[in-house]
Amino acid sequence: LSDKLDKALHVLKGHGSITEVNVAETLKEVRRALLDADVNFKIAKQFTNTVKEKALGQNVLTTLQPGQLMVKIVKDELTELMGGDAEGINLSGAPSVILMSGLQGSGKTTFSGKLANYLKNKKTKKPLLVACDVYRPAAIDQLHVVGEQIGVEVFSDRGNNDPVAISQAAIAHAKSNGNNVVIIDTAGRLAVDEAMMTEISNIHKAIQPQETLFVVDSMTGQDAVNTAKAFNDVLNFDGVILTKLDGDTRGGAAISIKSVVNKPIKFIGTGEKMEAIDVFYPSRMADRILGMGDVVSLVERAQEQFDEQEARKLQKKIAKNQFGFDDFLSQIQQIKKMGNMKDLMGMIPGAGKMLKDVDIDDDAFKGIEAIIHSMTPGERSTPSVLNASRKKRIAKGSGTSVQEVNQLLKQFNQMSKMMKMMQGGGGKKMMQMMKN
Ligand code: GDP
Ligand code: MG
Repeated sequence: LSDKLDKALHVLKGHGSITEVNVAETLKEVRRALLDADVNFKIAKQFTNTVKEKALGQNVLTTLQPGQLMVKIVKDELTELMGGDAEGINLSGAPSVILMSGLQGSGKTTFSGKLANYLKNKKTKKPLLVACDVYRPAAIDQLHVVGEQIGVEVFSDRGNNDPVAISQAAIAHAKSNGNNVVIIDTAGRLAVDEAMMTEISNIHKAIQPQETLFVVDSMTGQDAVNTAKAFNDVLNFDGVILTKLDGDTRGGAAISIKSVVNKPIKFIGTGEKMEAIDVFYPSRMADRILGMGDVVSLVERAQEQFDEQEARKLQKKIAKNQFGFDDFLSQIQQIKKMGNMKDLMGMIPGAGKMLKDVDIDDDAFKGIEAIIHSMTPGERSTPSVLNASRKKRIAKGSGTSVQEVNQLLKQFNQMSKMMKMMQGGGGKKMMQMMKN
């Protein structure tokens, strides 16, 4: 898909503004690309119409590359189409009951385990897994294996072939056993049929779950839409789980499902392991469908915020050895203006995963800013005057320690030295790099 899109957007490069003609050319390619990713035909058409209106309405924006602007409009629209913010799971109720539905092989049993593990790791939750796939003994075994693996209790009743009775007994068990979440794994068939629909509908009516989830294999493409519609007609489910989004599945089905049943996609499954579960983020999914990290908006934000004149002024100062703490402070503010650090890094393809557990945020700058604000203008422009008593005063004024002040001074000196070194060609290149 991204190759096609690249090609489509290539058409726009070199043109000064977006005109009706090249928008039409581009959109034809975008539409073809969406169809290739299994997006429903009607939805793809509707989508490109919206994008067209937006693109033509924005031809005043001559500062940006039209190609980039087009990518941004396409991406924003895709995100919009897949729903706004990520939505959680309703965990009210004592216990809160979560019912899984979906075809056989869609990943219900696996996802039940993943969700139990996810909730268990939240500490306040003590989930109970319930085996209601009564037709295949192996299905019950499978859930027991999963439960053992994640240390979550599994409720089953091998002699009983009535899933309604089993789920009711499980909820009673949960109440007396202190399980505050009950996850009911059900049987599915290979295709939508009446027996399956009646069965899941009966369970649904009897237990009235707080949350009914429809699990769908993202590799099933167009069929996924029909299946989702059939289940939604009977269950009016609360959310969709997209499984098997690992590998190179583009997941265009996500767009279609969301548009047809208008229910939020809540989680995605990205592998067979119990940890392979992620909250669904529409904008990330749009990136995935477009097949790229959000490099474009990273560039845009950088462009917006990194004012060229500022950069030139700074270069002059460095050359004259006049780089002071005020400049340091404005550099920090530039970085902050560009947005949350983690967000920003997440836009670099490949870096997002690496940074998942790292906590970088604006707070990291708070101490530094406080220290600089406690300096007099003279101290800021000529940091060499900072002696022991001045440092002590600054530490006191900023609520930090002399050690922290020293640490900042050290960083500042290193930075000044580095900037000095980059002069003579290297610096210019660096500035250019930051701008492009
Ligand atoms: P069920 O019939 O709906 O209960 O589906 P299962 O949970 O038994 O899953 C069917 C198959 O898909 C199993 O082999 C799972 O290991 C596999 N599976 C489930 N979720 C994922 C996923 O997110 N990624 C991958 N790669 N495989 C998955
Ligand atoms: Mg199963």
